[in-house]
Amino acid sequence: MLDIIKLLPDSVANQIAAGEVIQRPASAVKELMENALDAGATQIDLAVKDAGKSMIMVVDNGCGMSETDARMCFERHATSKISKAEDLFSIRTMGFRGEALASIAAIAQVEVRTRRKEDEVGVKIINEGSVVKEQTLAPMAVGTTFAVKNLFFNVPARRNFLKSPAAEMRHVVEEFTRVTLMNPEVGFTLTSDGKELYHLYPGNLKQRIMGLFGNNYDGKLLPVNQDTDRVSIHGYIVKAEFAKKTRGEQYFFVNKRFIKHPYLHHAIENAFLEMIPKDSFPGYFLDIEVDPADIDVNIHPTKTEVNFLDVKLVYAILHAAVRKAIGQHNLSPMIDFDESADLNNDFSMAMGMSQPLAIPNIPLDPNFNPFRKESAPRESHGEGGGYQAQHHEPLGDWRQLYGERMDLPLEDFGPMEESKPARQYLQVNQSYIVTTVKSGLLVVDQHLAHARVLFEKYLKELENHDGMSQQELFPQALTLNANDASLLKEMMPELENLGFVLEQANPTTFMVNGTPSDAADCDAGALLEQILDNYKINRSDLQLNRKLGLAKTMASQLAVKAQTKLSENEMQSIVDQLFACNVAEVAPDGKKIYVIINMEDYFQ
Ligand code: ADP
Ligand code: MG
Repeated sequence: MLDIIKLLPDSVANQIAAGEVIQRPASAVKELMENALDAGATQIDLAVKDAGKSMIMVVDNGCGMSETDARMCFERHATSKISKAEDLFSIRTMGFRGEALASIAAIAQVEVRTRRKEDEVGVKIINEGSVVKEQTLAPMAVGTTFAVKNLFFNVPARRNFLKSPAAEMRHVVEEFTRVTLMNPEVGFTLTSDGKELYHLYPGNLKQRIMGLFGNNYDGKLLPVNQDTDRVSIHGYIVKAEFAKKTRGEQYFFVNKRFIKHPYLHHAIENAFLEMIPKDSFPGYFLDIEVDPADIDVNIHPTKTEVNFLDVKLVYAILHAAVRKAIGQHNLSPMIDFDESADLNNDFSMAMGMSQPLAIPNIPLDPNFNPFRKESAPRESHGEGGGYQAQHHEPLGDWRQLYGERMDLPLEDFGPMEESKPARQYLQVNQSYIVTTVKSGLLVVDQHLAHARVLFEKYLKELENHDGMSQQELFPQALTLNANDASLLKEMMPELENLGFVLEQANPTTFMVNGTPSDAADCDAGALLEQILDNYKINRSDLQLNRKLGLAKTMASQLAVKAQTKLSENEMQSIVDQLFACNVAEVAPDGKKIYVIINMEDYFQ
């Protein structure tokens, strides 16, 4: 019998393999741009025609190639980036398989022009369908230009398989975005059919995000910076209130390589959980730096999947980093506060300082009291001392005015409150609190604000087990069906942390002996039933979220309702407590709590 197994000719094998690496013009764009970065380019210009179908050109000012390398680079598994199997575990470059150019050349007409700085003149090579068609000398600047024409010219089936020009162009822009985001120190341009779409100047990540997505991103971003010995996470998240209804800007990178990772994505969604509405998506631009030995990028030909050695650890650190970023933003006095801490950082980095500028540490004496006799400058200071001593005399009254409070540290009296007119609070529609801030008017939804305050309070109580309880004079009996009774039993430890005092009288009846102190005026039985209902609806969520759900239900049930008259003191207390919260902008269900009407925008 005849042997029937044959080796495929190289050209066919290359074409088949090419299909894996180059699926569409955008794949070639990605490979060419990454090669330019690996070559150390500081300026990379991409131009496409017909969304890359007729032509893709990438011009770089990188290290260039020798004449031999320029021929070699089209061979399969030809790479300058690794030489032995172990190198696979220390990959720092974008490419490493030596497959991309071989694949592109198998299915397109490729012209490369390249010159190293040590060479007088460059070389030009034309390769069509893996065959070198032409090689000549080419006068040119140092660097490399790849022009890929008529992609899939020899594989009509694939060419027909391409989507509309608009769809293919979207893929091109997406790859361009991914590559440029993680290389903000490199300048890039993207030109499509002669029209320049992007002109990105070298800068930092924030500037790059603005260059790609618009200058209005300036105020929307929160820096994330977390360094641990195993994992570092750097980048930006989009503030909760700018979360989008469509899956918008979600960019994860591992060691600057774009990845898709649903599990890690969940870590971020979870960190935003009670801050953005259910139908919105958080935005982020985050780079996770790990030791290359801790990941395996070699599991998928297009390399957007990564296996982490310890993905749970990365999840935990990522979750904590995002929570911290949100928390820090909300802790800093956000109203009228110009957030420029991260810009200072970039500035000191740009100045070549290895450490960001530190805020000078000025030692403060908390007991210092300028009105106390003993701390007043000594008379012996001469004229100056005399002057100050004189001015202290009338202020002696101050001591009488405040009597025994004199011994409190000065800051307890607040910053010169006497000279500041008290803030006014106005209630509109018995639902909104209106007051003034530096730049204008602050309008707060009273129910949402109070819900946020209570939510954070209950979360803390659930953590610290220290909810205050109010004894019921006449304990109420709550009878439930068997199912609800077992749920309530399951939740008892948490409910007790919040201040409920429950006692199971028989399998389906519970005595409510005490309620959380905020819930004194409300029907405890109805509240518990509401809690059970919400718990049942959200039970499919992770166990992790049980406390969140509980705090959320309690908060929305007990928060002051709309259409409730508030005294000025109550209004002030809600506003003050709101801005002491970790997150003041959004209610636990994701609704916006307040708006600031900036007077300068209207009256000039
Ligand atoms: P890989 O990037 O995986 O090494 P490629 O097929 O993409 O494989 O490239 C093959 C080799 O060609 C690279 O290892 C590099 O040495 C060289 N090369 C490709 N593009 C450039 C470029 N723009 N500048 C300099 N060298 C390049
Ligand atoms: Mg490559």
